[in-house]
Amino acid sequence: MQKFVIMGPPGCGKGTQAKKLCKRFDLTHLSVGDIFRWNIQSHTKLAAKVKRIIDAGHLVGDDIVDEVIRRRLDEHDWNFGFVLDGFPRNLSQANFLLESYNVDKVVVLETPDDVVMERALARRVCGDCGVDFNLIYHRPADPNVCDVCGGKLLARTDDTEVALRKRLADYHGQTEAAVTKFDQKGLTIHIDGTKPIEAVFAEVCGELKLAVM
Ligand code: AMP
Repeated sequence: MQKFVIMGPPGCGKGTQAKKLCKRFDLTHLSVGDIFRWNIQSHTKLAAKVKRIIDAGHLVGDDIVDEVIRRRLDEHDWNFGFVLDGFPRNLSQANFLLESYNVDKVVVLETPDDVVMERALARRVCGDCGVDFNLIYHRPADPNVCDVCGGKLLARTDDTEVALRKRLADYHGQTEAAVTKFDQKGLTIHIDGTKPIEAVFAEVCGELKLAVM
């Protein structure tokens, strides 16, 4: 069983690489951000607690996040392993993870602020089928319409310039401390996240010693 974590600033491609790894190697994708977005779309009680925090680009409190992760991992639907995407985001969450689960490797997608800012502002998701697009790297034929189902393409409500600046500040101010902790434990592999998606994926697989088919 493989237990991986994927880290990096917002817009570095964590979600894209996590989904590719999971598809190729039958791992389960665990994204706290996706869980929050599902709750927001479904108007749950949890959504009422976190929506404003997320839209402003702030980090949700550790008590809520740790509970979401604990519950998700308790579902045990990850026979072949999992890829954690967007968790941990600070030292306390990293300690919680290290105390609770044996992590095999932590992939860090190194991507400068100006690149992630440009990428995140160009992100779009289909409001109907959920397929991701990017107006720079994975352009839909019409910037407002999903190529797959014809649904309306939307920007994430936290992909505004103000919220992104806050998220980047938290990445440097809080998440990098968690990366350092994993570095000290010899768990990290650092990958250049500025390369094209397939090149990054090949490098991630190579470093994780997984065969690219
Ligand atoms: P993401 O999809 O990973 O970019 O997450 C979207 C938003 O959800 C973040 O900007 C945070 O507001 C919140 N969030 C996701 N994961 C965490 C976490 N591990 N700790 C705190 N907040 C989180």
